Amino acid sequence: MINLIGLSREEIARVLETSDAIDIPARHLKMRANQLWHWIYVQGARDFECMTTIAKGLRQQLAEFCCLERPEIVTEQISQDGTRKWLLRLASSVPGQTGPEIETVYIPEETRGTLCISSQIGCTLTCSFCHTGTQRLVRNLTPGEIAAQVLVAKDTLGEWPNSNPQPGQIVPSQSRMITNIVLMGMGEPLYIFDNVKQAVDTISDDAGLSISRRRITLSTSGVVPMIKRCGEEIGVMLAISLHAVRDEVRDLLVPINKKYSLRDLLDACRAYPGLANSKRITFEYVMLKGINDSLADARELVRLLKGIPAKINLIPFNPWPGTAYECSDWQTIEEFAEVVYRAGYASPVRTPRGRDIMAACGQLKSASIKLPVNQRKAQEKAAATLP
Ligand code: SAH
Ligand code: SF4
Repeated sequence: MINLIGLSREEIARVLETSDAIDIPARHLKMRANQLWHWIYVQGARDFECMTTIAKGLRQQLAEFCCLERPEIVTEQISQDGTRKWLLRLASSVPGQTGPEIETVYIPEETRGTLCISSQIGCTLTCSFCHTGTQRLVRNLTPGEIAAQVLVAKDTLGEWPNSNPQPGQIVPSQSRMITNIVLMGMGEPLYIFDNVKQAVDTISDDAGLSISRRRITLSTSGVVPMIKRCGEEIGVMLAISLHAVRDEVRDLLVPINKKYSLRDLLDACRAYPGLANSKRITFEYVMLKGINDSLADARELVRLLKGIPAKINLIPFNPWPGTAYECSDWQTIEEFAEVVYRAGYASPVRTPRGRDIMAACGQLKSASIKLPVNQRKAQEKAAATLP
């Protein structure tokens, strides 16, 4: 079975062309791929049966060879503030095994609805204040698994032409429930550049999900060599997990800083393709008590960012079990924010959302673990002998 979700139109056409079971003349391949695209991404089709513009015989052939499988929702938690967190189970790469799990979060506000999606299961980086950083990398997500998080959210929120919003659902005043996407879930998106690029192509496609690249924000811990390509080839809004204004402190909080220093990072930001006052970079700064929250830090932050079209997002630290860090006092955050505000940055503090369900920034983690190589090999071998 080939899952069509996440494939480009060209890849879909190739699947149709190369499958012996599917009988489509060469001259119709492109048209059929476009039709399928429309059903998958505009209508939200979950099977071929409902595709009424495709003849019944062909629908049956498609169903024999292809599928439109999404990750399965294991649990849905709804916060007091309306934030939703889904634990999603992906298909396993080993037949018969339970697949790994990721988390996806939906944050409804009055004027917009933001979906926070994951790019990896776990993370190879070990930022000391981040819950995801305590989970070893299990594997990267495929383009389909990244894009499918949007489909699952739309399925559940009832945001397809023929579905209705769930009762009690907070619906943003826009006509859409998902207006923005942030790649701020589990993982470092610039470590799986090609998959993220293909997923963003799918999500932003005008004749499909149609979420504009200007409403998609990719957050990186600072993978400097990929930043330019991110602007040129993915063309999304950029967010940088800055969190400190001195290398000694940033080395401890965001260890990738030892490889790419603050200076390298900010130079890459200055050169970000398309950067303008109307297309600013967001700098995220987590407020950690006694670590990075002095007024001297605030002034240095403003000084460092001078000349870069920027937004500053102060994120109150979200605690998680076992962390030694504490969130800065509210008064400290306000004083810090005041320095930032006076330097011309509007509304710098990000209100934590979904903390009660561990859905806030940096709280995501799934129980999936990566087995040691010998155990994985043994499992794969056992699976290969299954009938
Ligand atoms: N790996 C990417 C994408 C994750 S984005 C990155 O690091 O940018 C998640 C954001 O939440 C990042 O800015 C991250 O630094 C921040 N974060 C991580 N742990 C946090 C916590 N416990 N409290 C608040 N923010 C946190
Ligand atoms: Fe990974 Fe981002 Fe967490 Fe750092 S903050 S460990 S890069 S998910």
